[in-house]
Amino acid sequence: MQARIALAGALAFTLALGLVAAVPLSSPRGDATATATPPHSAPALASAGPPEAGVGRGTRVRPRVGPLRIPLAGESLPADAVLLPEATRDYRSGIHEGVDFPARAGTAVLAAAAGRVVRADTEFSDWTANERAAAFQEALEVGHTPERTLDRIRGRQIWIDHGKGVVTRYVHLESVAVAVGDHVGTGAVIGTVGSSGYPEGGPHLHFEIRIGDSYLGNGLTPAELARALRDAFP
Ligand SMILES: [Zn+2]
Repeated sequence: MQARIALAGALAFTLALGLVAAVPLSSPRGDATATATPPHSAPALASAGPPEAGVGRGTRVRPRVGPLRIPLAGESLPADAVLLPEATRDYRSGIHEGVDFPARAGTAVLAAAAGRVVRADTEFSDWTANERAAAFQEALEVGHTPERTLDRIRGRQIWIDHGKGVVTRYVHLESVAVAVGDHVGTGAVIGTVGSSGYPEGGPHLHFEIRIGDSYLGNGLTPAELARALRDAFP
């Protein structure tokens, strides 16, 4: 019972501050905050520690994120699973790690929440079609998309750090309107939609919610993902 109370208190604290954390589904939730944070347990929900533990790549997580706003004006979350995290990307033996919002090139991209800009590709040169083809061939041969290839596919990017280990990424941009170190408010215009990194995909905003070294959706079932997204975008 003490563990339940501790967890409930931590959750209330977390929600009150609009903070985030990740709870591995593989361990009983009561253990997450009742123990002294052994290496593989969840992070304490209300502590100042970043939630790296328990959210490593491939780990099944139930993230608590938000509240966020949709990063394009007048848009809503796409319903098509191919546009959501965990969709396969067969051309590169990969898994989609974000949400794709179809949009015209030049559409304003908005900060999903307040935070500090930690990456803004003000200087950017895209890779060539031949370089992409070679990288995708390599990915097919090794059976997954190497991280350096993923970073090139993402093209011109902005990352915003919201604290507590949560970073949002805005990808394939045509332009950026912020610089590293800028503090932005929710809804601030940070750049414009483009198709950099993967022009074959056409203009759209690829939007990622990173949690520690993982991403929202990693390892979740479609139903769990739908709930996590509803929670993130109330
Ligand atoms: Zn995408």
